[in-house]
Amino acid sequence: MADSVRRKIRILFAASEAVPFVKTGGLGDVAGSLPVALKAAGAKVSVILPKYSFIPQEYKEQMQHIADFYVPLSWRSVYCGIEKLNYEGVDFYFVDNEAYFKRDSAYGYFDDGERYAFFSKAICEAIALLPELQVDILHCNDWQAALAPVFIREFYQGSDACRNVKTIFTVHNVKFQGQYSDKMLSDVLGLADNPTAAGQLYCDRDSINFMKGALCYSDIITTVSPSYASELQMPFFGEGMDGIFRRRSNVLHGILNGIDQHVWNPETDEMIPEKYSIATLAKKAKNKKALQQELGLRQDPERPLVVMIGRLTNQKGLGLVRYAMNRLMERCVQVAILGTGDKDQEDAFKYFAWTYGDMMSAYIAFDDALSHRMYAGGDILLMPSEFEPCGLSQMIAMRYGTLPVVRETGGLQDSVMPYNQYTGEGTGFRFANMNADEMADCLLNACEVFWTNKDAWVKLQKQAMKTDFSWSRAADEYLGIYYDLHPEIVRYDQKR
Ligand code: ADP
Repeated sequence: MADSVRRKIRILFAASEAVPFVKTGGLGDVAGSLPVALKAAGAKVSVILPKYSFIPQEYKEQMQHIADFYVPLSWRSVYCGIEKLNYEGVDFYFVDNEAYFKRDSAYGYFDDGERYAFFSKAICEAIALLPELQVDILHCNDWQAALAPVFIREFYQGSDACRNVKTIFTVHNVKFQGQYSDKMLSDVLGLADNPTAAGQLYCDRDSINFMKGALCYSDIITTVSPSYASELQMPFFGEGMDGIFRRRSNVLHGILNGIDQHVWNPETDEMIPEKYSIATLAKKAKNKKALQQELGLRQDPERPLVVMIGRLTNQKGLGLVRYAMNRLMERCVQVAILGTGDKDQEDAFKYFAWTYGDMMSAYIAFDDALSHRMYAGGDILLMPSEFEPCGLSQMIAMRYGTLPVVRETGGLQDSVMPYNQYTGEGTGFRFANMNADEMADCLLNACEVFWTNKDAWVKLQKQAMKTDFSWSRAADEYLGIYYDLHPEIVRYDQKR
């Protein structure tokens, strides 16, 4: 083994999106927050992502062009510029190629496979060619960066800069795997005459799967909650990859994401009508009143206001909500939905809003400011997801003293502690099965506590608000894994 050395471990975090440059979902939040937390915990962290043309101008103006080279992609030799920007103490490297990334949005193009194969290869070239980018750990996220662990072993093992790089792959949502025609093996990846690599990438007779490549090649696999790490090994959740997750379960870790506790803080949130904290929780009522008024709901403090904020897709268990809607309305529960997604779901909730007048509101839009007002003004956040790798909404809601009612799956199960009526413990309410009546029973039980036992309710709110969902907790867990992969590096903050 190499001599031990005491220094900061050097991480390159690769993702297709990162806040504040580009965000389409939870991955953007993670790639924006986790590197900053890792840096604070004592690692040297850089992030690499594509330079999309729609990154806000203010950031593009601050980028510095530091290198360019050509990336081999089978028979192609493709231009790649590297731009750099320091943000909150972390170096962000942007992979520049206008043919691939000068588009209106990040994903959804005919050549996405080629675009992100290029991105993954460019990451490896950058590690091999940029002396300033010394890397101990390459941490890749989701299918868009999934080929980097494959390429680094197959093409760059001989390079001094890459030889000791260990790879980690994080699954944020196994539904999206990057599956393409096997013609890409020869046409883009240059791996057709490498039977080992091809065998790992093949998923069906004629197709290859980027994520499968990363799951086979990476030294460590992580996902975004411990429960999802277990679920991924089951056929129902594994989306065809469950066998690989079972085979590699010895290197599979589930680490619950955090939330940005500065952005989501009712004590300092400029976007809500009335700021409050655990000590001034009574002021939350003003936010409820204002929200009821804004959404056209009856201004009655005694009606529990149930909010839902998120993508309106089947994953989120909306079928259960639709089925239970009449029952909830009969009990005078108010429901307010904010989201966009599948048209049939949007239409269904618009119909309910029209039918139930001042009992139900559906705001079909992406509106960050309104989401803050809803987290602050709601009494209950409903999240009956069919599956939920981590879920951020329930953690944000708890921070605002809005109690979550969730189905026991993935990160919902790991972050919401169920109410115990005998001890008063808990931070929310949970139900087990994808069953609309079970969900409604659970939700109405929560309402019962809201109506009849205010002390227990307030105690639950305070417990929820106190829960630690900071990124520093997650960063510590990731750091432990990074250092385990490099036993020769002595933790810089630990005694020898
Ligand atoms: P997922 O990643 O599956 O979309 P999460 O709960 O992990 O779900 O994260 C969703 C994030 O996006 C939350 O921060 C939520 O507040 C936000 N969000 C989702 N839909 C909307 C919307 N229509 N308007 C504002 N914010 C939204």
